[in-house]
Amino acid sequence: MIPKKYEFEIRINPKKEFIKVEGIVHLINNDCEKKTFFDLHNSFEIENLFINDEQTHVLYSEKLKHRLLNPAARRHYIEIPDKREIKMRIYYSGKLVCIPEFDEESKELFLDDRINEQRIELASYSTWYPQFSEFGKSFIYDIVLNIPSDFKTVSQGKLIMERTFNNKVIKRWQCENASDIVILGSKNFKVIEKKTETVNYEAYFEDLPEDFIRKDFMQTSQIYAYFEEKIGKPIDEKISFKKVFSPKKFGQGAYQRGEMTVFSQGYILGLLKNNSDLPFLKHNAHELAHMWWHFSKGKHDWINEAFAEFFSLLAVKNVNHYDFKKLVEKDKKALKTVDERAHCLYEYPLSNLGDGTKIRYIKGALLLNEIYEHVKEERFFELCREFYNLSRSTDTTSHDFEEFWTNRVPDLKNIIGIWLHSPGSAPL
Ligand SMILES: [Zn+2]
Repeated sequence: MIPKKYEFEIRINPKKEFIKVEGIVHLINNDCEKKTFFDLHNSFEIENLFINDEQTHVLYSEKLKHRLLNPAARRHYIEIPDKREIKMRIYYSGKLVCIPEFDEESKELFLDDRINEQRIELASYSTWYPQFSEFGKSFIYDIVLNIPSDFKTVSQGKLIMERTFNNKVIKRWQCENASDIVILGSKNFKVIEKKTETVNYEAYFEDLPEDFIRKDFMQTSQIYAYFEEKIGKPIDEKISFKKVFSPKKFGQGAYQRGEMTVFSQGYILGLLKNNSDLPFLKHNAHELAHMWWHFSKGKHDWINEAFAEFFSLLAVKNVNHYDFKKLVEKDKKALKTVDERAHCLYEYPLSNLGDGTKIRYIKGALLLNEIYEHVKEERFFELCREFYNLSRSTDTTSHDFEEFWTNRVPDLKNIIGIWLHSPGSAPL
């Protein structure tokens, strides 16, 4: 079941920590199935459900266990007509369950999404909207948010309406090419906007120095220009950056959705204390690189991370003039600490726990470095551009990766195979 479009009216009451949604999901039922399921936040109550305008009910539902990315999801099974186009109208509401932020406590489950007076953060992690397939498929959304007017909010896509009355603000966003519906908000958000001929930049933050934001604007523009020169434009329109420093203390360092990067403000404040530019620059470049590298789903997601990580090294080398060799050496050292039985890249599951980051990001980047050193910079970017253009609108797999790169660089056929199929840190 493929969701094509979400049309949602969302009411958020931060004081009561409550959300109420009335929505329509347009689905494509390619195999004309008669039964399907969707995942929704475990504590939400479904008040009404219509399929192609006929009222219906959930057949049964089950709480999903041991899911790292969606720790509080419930799966609901429904009957559908065996037609190609399905319209699901759904009314639901509730409070998010309370799970510690990522890195807050060394718990097995974590969730950064929140609805409270301190902050609003809604992304796919909480399954706050019905999800039908593996994360990463592209869809359209058209959402209207109703929230107290003292909250400043931001979502992806274009803001096409904003009205304030009776202490409420109503905002409507449309996004043509989304993989998630992300809404962030805070009463204390400061907003800095900068517009140039080529970019629109918006930053949302609470406690960061404004100097940091001005510097980020310069760095983001430079890194973006560098990537665009090497791989081409990721979208046809004028580029817009939304940098949101979500006021969480812990949480995931950052995640990227289209033109929007969501950072943990606590994480950034920690980096600033250490007085080094490098970790933020690298992280920023990594997330920006995902504007291009985001086309592999599920266990093949290592391809996105490998390219984003390696391009972040290239950016700090070529834009910020850091010692590239030293960075590569540091990565090699880090990779050597993984469990020698850790899954190979080719099969590594979509998880950053345990050795996940070291294998998917660092081992992946070091494999790309192997190719980069062999073919040299100019040819490497030519091949990256070709691979990107071939892959950008497909679900590219480990098999596709191996086929492309071993065909283009046959001298490295064996070594690429070893990097892809060996467990642990091999071939280091
Ligand atoms: Zn990444």
